[in-house]
Amino acid sequence: MSTVIPLHPVNALGDCGDLDLQTERGQRAVFCGLTGIIWLHRKIQDAFFLVVGSRTCAHLIQSAAGVMIFAEPRFGTAIIDERDLAGLADANDELDRVVSELLSRRQDIKLLFLVGSCPSEVIKLDLSRAAQRLTRLHHPAVRVLNYSGSGIETTFTQGEDACLASLVPELPTQDDTRQRLMVVGSLADVVEDQMRGLFKAIGIDEVDFFPPRRSTELPAIGPGTRFLLAQPFLADTTRALQARGAEHIPALFPLGVEGTTQWLHAAATAWGVPPQRVLEATQAPRQRAEQALSRHRALLSDRSVFFFPDSQLEVPLARFLHRELGMRLTEVGTPYLHRQHLAPELALLPSGTRVTEGQHVDPQLDRCKQAAPDLVVCGLGLANPLEAEGFTTKWAIELVFTPIQGYEQAGDLAGLFSRPLNRRLKLVA
Ligand code: SF4
Repeated sequence: MSTVIPLHPVNALGDCGDLDLQTERGQRAVFCGLTGIIWLHRKIQDAFFLVVGSRTCAHLIQSAAGVMIFAEPRFGTAIIDERDLAGLADANDELDRVVSELLSRRQDIKLLFLVGSCPSEVIKLDLSRAAQRLTRLHHPAVRVLNYSGSGIETTFTQGEDACLASLVPELPTQDDTRQRLMVVGSLADVVEDQMRGLFKAIGIDEVDFFPPRRSTELPAIGPGTRFLLAQPFLADTTRALQARGAEHIPALFPLGVEGTTQWLHAAATAWGVPPQRVLEATQAPRQRAEQALSRHRALLSDRSVFFFPDSQLEVPLARFLHRELGMRLTEVGTPYLHRQHLAPELALLPSGTRVTEGQHVDPQLDRCKQAAPDLVVCGLGLANPLEAEGFTTKWAIELVFTPIQGYEQAGDLAGLFSRPLNRRLKLVA
């Protein structure tokens, strides 16, 4: 967990339609970017994530990934100890030794990420040079890249952004200008398969997913590449893709029926596919999703929800909860507000919604308590104290670990919010 000393009080960001946009700089209660390893190592199945960090970093990912304890993990921590911190040992030599041991034992690893942490930043260990050196040593069997997941530089989902941005220069160049669609952002394999089927049904056959399931299947990129973001937290990755000539297709994010439909429509428009074809191709899954949502609407409608900043999914989730389930939004906190990527989402939030970028946790807790929402979406560190005070909470981390995108998952997504309310009602009864 990272802590930042308060810098300024709340100040207004300015106009964004009728929304009440605020920014806060203060103490934060957010995970660091190491957490992304938990879903990234499941997605890229021949990659290994070696955190160069302290025992605290090791504990964080071990406990966040508790369920993986019986599997041979594809993440680990090279511990920086007192000797390294005191400059008594050459940290680069130690790192080379650890990597050589790892790679000789684990020949299934084709891509190794050196993941920077707060301690590696403090001792100014140059992981970029280490990655180049180790690539020279272990190429072609293994490619070594680096990115930072430190709490000084990143929060939670920014770890995925940093990881994917480090991978973009490795994408092969597409020689021709043939139009190809790339879906960017980790999706569970089951969701990826569903999306591929939907794109095919609307007439878009050539679709790549980034990151791919195997590092040996990196999609090619070039001026013909147009990409849809599957996740809202990929600002650096987007810039890196654009620098390689790819074009971003602005869209809602594929959460809920509306988000998924508009996301598909955005790609269809870019491919010149008539809207009617999208509606026909998606009719059956849309109906299934609508039915699944109706089971949760009775409980969630007119209930209020307060989002603390955590995953950067908050704005699309707020749009989904408000427009498809009738929830009232008391505050939508997000660690960063990428206005360009979120513009279609922000346009659909109800007038007057308070959207807070950044965090100053104490005043935000005060506002939450004053608003007394029916449901609070927050990180693990805030959930237990709030529960103890009688609030109903939803752990934001589950929203990242669970497949929630697309039509078939819309009911499950609603269930993540209705379940804690249901449980509270049963306890009260
Ligand atoms: S990277 Fe920093 S914030 Fe994250 S677990 Fe390690 S020491 Fe804590």
